[in-house]
Amino acid sequence: MSDIASVLVTGGAGFIGGAVCRRLVRRGYRVVNLDKLTYAADLNALRGLDGEANYRFHQADICDGPKVASILADEQVHAIMHLAAETHVDRSIDGPDVFVQTNVVGTVALLNAALDYWRTLDGRRRDAFRFHHVSTDEVFGDLDLDEGVFTEETPYAPSSPYSASKAASDHFVRAWHETYGLPVVLSNCSNNYGPFHFPEKLIPLIILNALEGKELPVYGDGRNVRDWLYVDDHAAALELVLTKGELGQNYNIGGRAERSNIGVVETICDLLDAKVPLASGEARRSLIRFVTDRPGHDRRYAIDPTKAEQDLGWHAEESFETGLEKTVDWFLQNDWWWRPIREQRYSGARLGTGA
Ligand code: NAD
Repeated sequence: MSDIASVLVTGGAGFIGGAVCRRLVRRGYRVVNLDKLTYAADLNALRGLDGEANYRFHQADICDGPKVASILADEQVHAIMHLAAETHVDRSIDGPDVFVQTNVVGTVALLNAALDYWRTLDGRRRDAFRFHHVSTDEVFGDLDLDEGVFTEETPYAPSSPYSASKAASDHFVRAWHETYGLPVVLSNCSNNYGPFHFPEKLIPLIILNALEGKELPVYGDGRNVRDWLYVDDHAAALELVLTKGELGQNYNIGGRAERSNIGVVETICDLLDAKVPLASGEARRSLIRFVTDRPGHDRRYAIDPTKAEQDLGWHAEESFETGLEKTVDWFLQNDWWWRPIREQRYSGARLGTGA
């Protein structure tokens, strides 16, 4: 049984952080959500937690060391789960600086605050403390279509400014463990999808464009492969990594669900045609448009999650088919959440292929 009963979650107003906050509160942890509230954040996704005695929110920037230090001193959490980041690959190509600032400089500022805080703890609290860094499989670069899978031993070879900044942050987290003894665990996950996914990412963008009978943009030839995981399965894995992961280790998390982008788009079209046919009777696959490929677009990601399965007893509950249908149903039933974001905050002009 873990001694961790309270967790500071950074980036808890984002897509995965929100799923983590909802899960941990439901499971009885005291959760302190620290988030800057960038364009990607949405507190509406956490409305269900308002008024919960074991949930607190602080608006703060991870780069602001003194503020983070004072929140840690006040809240006296048992662990930190670090998800705050700039995450959208296309945005990192247009403007990499903020990715370096938040993902690299911000992670180092957070590590410093965590180290100072950990050093104030004593006895059992100090032994139990964990800094869990949440990262991506994109740090490993890409694979050929017929090449193997990423394991924990795969060398880092990031391609985009986003993945380079996450790779750098992973290295700093390991360095704070090796150099200063900070108790850390890391996890690298494949592409997530599910409820409250920001409408600029591939799956929600395609669901919502298809629902509205708009064109469905697909990069290049659409044969790029991603390994998909339902977000609640990721949240379950993160809880296990935090509470049962071995110090200094990293765990690959993935759903063994490799799909080509065009395959994902076609599946969404077919699901929506069956649930809400277009008034014209037209099949939604006819809305697919191939557009100029993203520069440096990674061909394939694929994760081997054997270590997390064997050492932590984690298994994804959703297959890609069940998870995708749940996600489509969720978007059909929750336009109160996505419609204001799509209409007021985000034009829907960009594409995404996940994180
Ligand atoms: P997201 O973009 O939905 O949310 C990121 C959150 O971080 C937002 O709420 C934002 O306000 C907050 N944030 C950004 N800069 C901040 C700062 N300087 N200080 C405090 N908060 C800040 O991201 P996500 O998709 O939920 O991803 C969460 C984490 O998981 C990231 O670290 C990402 O690299 C990693 N990851 C994501 C995926 C994926 O498929 N989405 C896959 C693997 C790993």
